[in-house]
Amino acid sequence: MAESFLRNRRGSKKEDLYLWRQYNALELDTVLTAQLYLQEMIREQPNDIDKMIECPNGVEENLWVYEHMRQICLQLNALSVHLQSCCIPTQCVNMQADGDEVYLCAVHKKPKECSAIDYILHTLDGSCSILNNTKLFPSRVTVKSGSMQRLESTARRLYRIFGHAYYRHREVFDKYESQTKMCLRFTKFALKYDLLTMDSLTIPVEISSIIKQENNNEDDVTDKN
Ligand SMILES: [Zn+2]
Ligand SMILES: [Zn+2]
Repeated sequence: MAESFLRNRRGSKKEDLYLWRQYNALELDTVLTAQLYLQEMIREQPNDIDKMIECPNGVEENLWVYEHMRQICLQLNALSVHLQSCCIPTQCVNMQADGDEVYLCAVHKKPKECSAIDYILHTLDGSCSILNNTKLFPSRVTVKSGSMQRLESTARRLYRIFGHAYYRHREVFDKYESQTKMCLRFTKFALKYDLLTMDSLTIPVEISSIIKQENNNEDDVTDKN
């Protein structure tokens, strides 16, 4: 008997506790379906990235992208914690990745040159604020396509965090990536849902596995903030 809520029934026997965990999360008709399903995938099948990013039947694609972005922000916090021990403001004075280009920190009223670690922390905070902004995302059931543009700029900024880690703090990046595969996952996810374009990629993660992915979206908005 499937319950459509996630709690143990009163008086359940010990062996019956948490039996809801065995139900396919997709069967649960709640606004948390996508979130639960994704979290289950991350926990149970962390290496099956293709499946993890595939929008499940019955879930609106925009909502799926939104939920992935929320999870990515949460999991990127762990990378920022690792970076804080080596990304020193006096050494990484500006936010840079593979080249000389300096990225301005866009969370301030007037975008400015924050140190790399400040850029990273500010961007993560700013991204969380965008995702939790009830005007942009008033519903957890459906996401307006107009709000998706904010996810594109958010994705571009988050990708720079990977870029900085890869090009400036390779040891930290490699350790984090070997444990989490977050950069690969984010790259595949962002390409699949047109949040990033192939030519905006700077980090050579297993690109060969995604290079054939259809990516006809050539008119990327070149927002440098
Ligand atoms: Zn740094
Ligand atoms: Zn800043």
